[in-house]
Amino acid sequence: MNKRVYNFSAGPSMLPVAVLERAAAEMTNANGTGQSVMEMSHRSKDFKPIIDHAEAMLRELMEIPGNYKVLFLQGGASLQFPMIPLNLAVREDGKKQKVTYVDTGVWASKAAEEASKYAEVRVAASSKDKAYSYIPEAPAPDTEDVYYHITWNNTIVGTKWNKIPNTGSVPLVADISSCILSEPLDVSKFALLYAGAQKNLGPAGVTVVIIREDLIKKVPDWIPTMLRYEIHAKEGSMYNTPPCYGIYIIGLVLDWMKEQGGLAEIERRNREKATLLYDYLDQSKLFRSPIRKEDRSLMNIPFVIGNADLEAQFVKEAAASGLVNLAGHRLVGGMRASIYNAMPKEGVLALIDFMKQFEAAHR
Ligand code: PMP
Repeated sequence: MNKRVYNFSAGPSMLPVAVLERAAAEMTNANGTGQSVMEMSHRSKDFKPIIDHAEAMLRELMEIPGNYKVLFLQGGASLQFPMIPLNLAVREDGKKQKVTYVDTGVWASKAAEEASKYAEVRVAASSKDKAYSYIPEAPAPDTEDVYYHITWNNTIVGTKWNKIPNTGSVPLVADISSCILSEPLDVSKFALLYAGAQKNLGPAGVTVVIIREDLIKKVPDWIPTMLRYEIHAKEGSMYNTPPCYGIYIIGLVLDWMKEQGGLAEIERRNREKATLLYDYLDQSKLFRSPIRKEDRSLMNIPFVIGNADLEAQFVKEAAASGLVNLAGHRLVGGMRASIYNAMPKEGVLALIDFMKQFEAAHR
């Protein structure tokens, strides 16, 4: 294939072509330094403006208040599953502290399972009874909770929260891996937000953590240095070698977002793209969305036919037409179109056109 495909992968996923072209143009000589970003020492005067720029752009676009730290870490969103309880819930005397999780899918339940090694986890609500096809009401926190965890956008099943749960004085923690910067989010309502970069921000290998400063504390000695927010915050994400190239690409992606009109315009486009696809699904006689209307994700849109052979044929024929990675997650089957910020409207229209043809041929 010698043209670009529309890639509907859940992540890593599409990046804006303008960003890839800029990275290519700067590949051998970035900012007149005579070297690529990959070759720069992370402690050099050449790299410092790159990480500072990525952070400044993230702060600007997300309107992150001044009393929050932005960390660029490694280990994926998955490493945050243990890091959150290790930093927020472990006490010197070893007594397990209470934490609440809401189970809205595979990632939410993995986060809870990992936390249960270090904290007394209460899974206060779950939508597992209906294959995670909705977001449950958020129960009140326990008064003794040291934090309350939700997964804002559920990548595999395609649901998202639309209302920030009121947890009172209990710190609210959210996994925003698959929706960061897809629409405005009031950061001040959260104590900690985290996201792997490989969907809306850049390449895999960087995890962004946005944490309110009062939660950054000294932790017991047995907790590995690399797993302490305190260390990463003090060292400006440079305790060890950060994922330099990924951080640089994040800066370029955020520049692109600003050029496009900022988060308000990105949100408008995302709503437009998602509405086009949901409207088609809701009137289709072949395809349907299994997700409750009011809880549907703007980023991950699963759909089914209800016939595994026909679904496999759809995924194969779509790929041959340049619409790739439309198979649903291996745990749920069916199809899923992930339409992150960098997916152009033309890609969604091409998918709908293809679905219409497929429907006409298989009714
Ligand atoms: N949380 C969510 C919501 C995700 O979608 C993913 C990955 N798709 C993860 C966590 C795990 O992320 P990682 O692979 O970066 O560890």
